[in-house]
Amino acid sequence: MARIVMKFGGTSVGDIDRIKNVANRVKREVDAGNQVAVVLSAMSGVTNQLVAWCNQMAKLPDPREYDTVVATGEQVTIGLLAIGLQELGLEARSWCGWQIPIRSNGVHGKARIDSIDTARMSAAMAQGQVAVVAGFQAVGPDERISTLGRGGSDTSAVALAAALGADRCDIYTDVDGIYTTDPRIVAKARKLHRITYEEMLELASVGAKVLQTRSVEMAMKHRVRVQVLSSFEDKPGTLVCDEDEIVEKELVSGIAYSRDETKVTLTRVPDRPGVAASIFGPLADASVNVDMIVQNVSEDGRFTDLTFTVAHTDLERAREVLNAAQSSLGFERLSDDPDVVKVSVIGVGMRSHAGIAQKMFQTLAQEGINIQVISTSEIKISVLIAEKYTELALRALHTAYGLDAA
Ligand code: ADP
Ligand code: ASP
Ligand code: MG
Repeated sequence: MARIVMKFGGTSVGDIDRIKNVANRVKREVDAGNQVAVVLSAMSGVTNQLVAWCNQMAKLPDPREYDTVVATGEQVTIGLLAIGLQELGLEARSWCGWQIPIRSNGVHGKARIDSIDTARMSAAMAQGQVAVVAGFQAVGPDERISTLGRGGSDTSAVALAAALGADRCDIYTDVDGIYTTDPRIVAKARKLHRITYEEMLELASVGAKVLQTRSVEMAMKHRVRVQVLSSFEDKPGTLVCDEDEIVEKELVSGIAYSRDETKVTLTRVPDRPGVAASIFGPLADASVNVDMIVQNVSEDGRFTDLTFTVAHTDLERAREVLNAAQSSLGFERLSDDPDVVKVSVIGVGMRSHAGIAQKMFQTLAQEGINIQVISTSEIKISVLIAEKYTELALRALHTAYGLDAA
């Protein structure tokens, strides 16, 4: 008998018929003799609506109350699925994060899971009960509901699979696997049968939202076998696994984009030792993640411009922190541009092959696309460009790296 975790995303539980479809899929796994824990998202669109309501109440809503509101979407779907499973003659119950409990740190809005006490749930599963778990939510050290950041149900699922010692963690979604790039934008995207944890981690961290970054980190750490597959069609999906399980290695395995970036520029920052620390320190303290950074060479050696990117949702907080410290930091002006996209090319082949970055720059130049910021890591190159070029850039790069499906 195997123990499995099945996770269904927002589109997969988008209406009552789809939740009934999920119930049938779960029943198949139970009938096959498996112990099953199901992790659900809110119905598609619901979390966006809840977030929008919070933002209509306040420019910077209290993060604890924000979590109280946005965690509610998942409570609806788990209750409905438990009812649906009972209707099919199965034993099932719903579990909110705090009931298990799934414990997190206190960073409301993007909490990290610290521990999961699976004792009660595990005992119920061993008795044949299907556990239907609310994704995205946990309980913080303050005993209040916390949420794990957008897309966090993936992380709930993988964390639960690790804690339960599950044999598999199947992530059901609205595409039938992981592709070389977002198949909704590039029609010629090619489905991958397997991808390494490392490559998927990079892809996720630069915006491929098919899996939340933390879920991949956790899968890699605990060696959870994660599979991404369609909740609507019965076809093999994509397995995320170790490098030694992959026979054919590509130079470039994928291209991702993130529209969730705002470019922030501080002009005339005094050019002296410690200035970067004094800018990025307070941002980190306020849990603002800073991504790409460029510091221009100052012309007179006294002042410089500093450009970096933050997530849209962090912009307001970043502004608040920096404006409050403007006189001590001594910069002249803070400006921001939300109409940018970060496009990234990923591949383990970059470790051993030169010229991959050059191909990216050349391809974008041929399309007349200006690069605003560049950053690189061992297996990744990212560029920041104007958002209106997203599709053009993705398609051109996909072709240039020979990734197009036949
Ligand atoms: P869910 O609601 O099931 O969690 P998400 O919308 O979070 O689904 O993630 C699935 C979406 O991820 C797909 O619809 C697709 O548009 C997008 N996506 C981005 N990059 C990729 C990729 N490389 N492979 C597959 N899907 C991708
Ligand atoms: N419902 C949450 C979101 O939309 C979590 C998830 O679906 O993974 O971000
Ligand atoms: Mg998702």
